[in-house]
Amino acid sequence: MRTTASIPPQRPVPRAILPVAGHFPVLWRRLSGGSFLFLAAVSVAFLVALPASRGAAAQQALVYDASPEEGAPIEVALQRLAGSATTLNGQYVRVTSNVLQPGGEPVQGKNGTSDFRFDAAAPTTADCITDAAACSAFDAVNVYYHIDRFAHEFWAERLGVDVDFQVDVTTHIAGSGGFAIAPERTMKIAVGDIFMLNAALSDDVLYHEYTHLMAWEVGWKSDRDSPEETKALGEGYADYFTSTYTNDPRFAEWVVTCPDRQHCEGPANDNEFRRLDLDQSEWNFQFGEPSQTLRYGFCLRFHEGDGKCKASFNNRTPQYTWGMIWGAALWDLRGVLGADVVDRLALEGMRRHARDTDFSGALAHLLDADFALWEGIHSDTIRDVFAARGVDLASVVSVENPDEAASPQPRQALISVWPNPAAERIHVDAPIGARIVLLDAIGREVLTAEPVGAHGATAGRGGARAERILETAHLPAGWYAVRVGDVVQPVILSR
Ligand SMILES: [Zn+2]
Repeated sequence: MRTTASIPPQRPVPRAILPVAGHFPVLWRRLSGGSFLFLAAVSVAFLVALPASRGAAAQQALVYDASPEEGAPIEVALQRLAGSATTLNGQYVRVTSNVLQPGGEPVQGKNGTSDFRFDAAAPTTADCITDAAACSAFDAVNVYYHIDRFAHEFWAERLGVDVDFQVDVTTHIAGSGGFAIAPERTMKIAVGDIFMLNAALSDDVLYHEYTHLMAWEVGWKSDRDSPEETKALGEGYADYFTSTYTNDPRFAEWVVTCPDRQHCEGPANDNEFRRLDLDQSEWNFQFGEPSQTLRYGFCLRFHEGDGKCKASFNNRTPQYTWGMIWGAALWDLRGVLGADVVDRLALEGMRRHARDTDFSGALAHLLDADFALWEGIHSDTIRDVFAARGVDLASVVSVENPDEAASPQPRQALISVWPNPAAERIHVDAPIGARIVLLDAIGREVLTAEPVGAHGATAGRGGARAERILETAHLPAGWYAVRVGDVVQPVILSR
């Protein structure tokens, strides 16, 4: 069956009924007039109720649909378990418990069977760190279900990524939240502490951490020593891919908690949490100078453990607050171009990022990806949306020469670049004596035009000018920028 319907960005509602669908080969076909039609050749999908006793790799389990906020656990069938399907070891994910399985083996079904219907743990299971009886294997089952579903439905089926790795997740770690160690393909999920509940029960935390792994797998090797802006990009993408999958701009709204402050005195609590539908003027990168006071959420509480009053912002560090700006820009773009376009664009952007990519460089990569996927038809929209969040291309082409940086000339109208898109050559009209550089999408100089003398120059507003030509026939098609001093003009080379 062939249809022009696009794949919905939201995940399907899971129930005890198991949707059995074929795969969704996705085709992009160029139509005349520069528009594109999204074609999904969807094989017939049908619903079938699987008896619990059949199907070695689809076993019954209890999980939360999203988080405990949405109600009681639901019954689902676990997919893609290996072998006899009696442990949480599957194609995409393997889950252990730091407390229940200290040897690191995958968590087992009830009494060695493939029945994974455990009772839900209390939302706060800090006690389980010291008392294994307070831990429930439910947490591990919940992690398996959500990671397996996200890997399969979203990354493999929807975006076509070859997900050829298994992530090893450990639940019941002491502390708050979760983290991913991409080179090791591991994730650690904490049981919660004074300001957070059990992260294993929060679908968005799991999707977020998994996206960090996926970024690494598709080639973006950032690490702990990467610059702050690069780390912020990582958080922004992790939030974006979570929100586009859940179709919900809110992040961690359940897992963040603020218990009773008792006698502690201080400013009022502010239960703001991380989200991507953010005010544009406040959550703005301001072209490299974001506000120093970006923060969100405030909680003051009494901690019985040490008898002290403790205060916490949900976050105030640039890695996360700047990350929210990047995630918000992608979310804005999704509102304009739709999830089908922006999900692919963001994936292809990540493939191009390096361990020190900054916001401007990342924007250049998105433009380059747009060119590669769709011949740059969204280029203006992408630039407009990111400019509204205070992100432009300036620092890709940051000026190394302080004399050029100190130039008193106005930024605008100093150069003319044509045609655009260009093919064999690019004409540049610029002040005499200026060094003209052509940069590729990752900011490398690929061509220069040396300054010329007065020959061929014309005098006019802004002083003597000259036209020069950059020969570009040998360069691959893609997104480039002409830089003259601190003035930058994007140009696309098409073939
Ligand atoms: Zn993160």
